[in-house]
Amino acid sequence: MGSERVLMYHAVGTRSAAHDPHNLFVPPESLRGQLRALLDRGWTPLTLDAYLRGDSPSRSVLLTFDDGYQAFLDEGLPVLRELDVPATVFVLSGLLGGRSGWMPEMPDEPLVDADGVRRLVAAGLDVECHGWDHSHLAGTDPETLTRNVTDAARALAELTGRTPRAYAYPYGDHDAAARRAVAEAGFEVAFSVHEGVGRFAVPRVDITSIDTDLTFRMKTWRAYPALRRLSGHAPALRSGLHSMIGRAPRR
Ligand SMILES: [Zn+2]
Repeated sequence: MGSERVLMYHAVGTRSAAHDPHNLFVPPESLRGQLRALLDRGWTPLTLDAYLRGDSPSRSVLLTFDDGYQAFLDEGLPVLRELDVPATVFVLSGLLGGRSGWMPEMPDEPLVDADGVRRLVAAGLDVECHGWDHSHLAGTDPETLTRNVTDAARALAELTGRTPRAYAYPYGDHDAAARRAVAEAGFEVAFSVHEGVGRFAVPRVDITSIDTDLTFRMKTWRAYPALRRLSGHAPALRSGLHSMIGRAPRR
């Protein structure tokens, strides 16, 4: 691991802004366009195994999809298969067949059930661990940590027949105790969102439905995370960048 980019998607599909206030649903045609652009520009999408081996070519990308939405299975998987692109999906062991109730703003999105997980595995995707029930792990009690790390990993292994190797913190949220729990449970890598701390909190770049061709391309720049941090500290720069590069329209 080193120079690889790690992109974080959530669901694939088309939803209204009212239904999807966090812009988590990337329309399938946008996903197709983004992946084609990566392939055309010589990027190599990685399996988790290739990512963990760490001997990837310089333009390599790990595509990750969080939460395990049924809409990802229905509308994202066909695009990945069409383009023969590997991806890693992070599912919630305690919410298989359930709904996105941890988000009061969008509580009703169905999540894949056990059979859906098997279909993802059979399609060649890496199905990995996103915890038990989307609890915040930073500052939590030991029971919540055990349920969301050790128990979640065991349940997923029983379902897939494989030991999970990668963890994605719910909300990207972690602290020293959470990172230690994930390492002790045998995971080989864990992903955060913005805050990176070594191998057990590797940051990712989030892709949403308001990304344009230009912002998507910028998000693959090596300097993008640093630019993002900088603009976060300078609101004027951030709003200036936004008005310059625009955002994709929502319906
Ligand atoms: Zn999540």
